[in-house]
Amino acid sequence: MRYRIRGDGMEGGTWTQERVEQLIELWEGGVTTAEIGRRIGVTKNAVIGKVHRIGLVPRVVIERPPQRRNVFDFNGLICMWPIGHPGDEDFHFCGTPPVDGKPYCAKHAGQAYIRPKEGKPEAA
Ligand SMILES: [Zn+2]
Repeated sequence: MRYRIRGDGMEGGTWTQERVEQLIELWEGGVTTAEIGRRIGVTKNAVIGKVHRIGLVPRVVIERPPQRRNVFDFNGLICMWPIGHPGDEDFHFCGTPPVDGKPYCAKHAGQAYIRPKEGKPEAA
């Protein structure tokens, strides 16, 4: 006779030892819960639930390559050099970390302060 042992309230799969180890490894590698779920084969919610149960600490978010940004998700210090034309679908800001004391990244700070036509570069 077969019966199912009820798990610990998780959904979407079984937490085998192997999966738990994978979860911890991915988690510590900075992989998102959704991505962990995809790789292990469980739901994102199951991953989150398990993470809480094991007591894994939120780790520092891994720095990722700059993503495309638009005016609406601006948060924090980023290079606000506009790329494209406002109103265009692909208009966005540069988004890389700015250099100290400047609103732009190194590359764009250079462009911002050299205006060939006006010929009056600001003194540093
Ligand atoms: Zn920039």
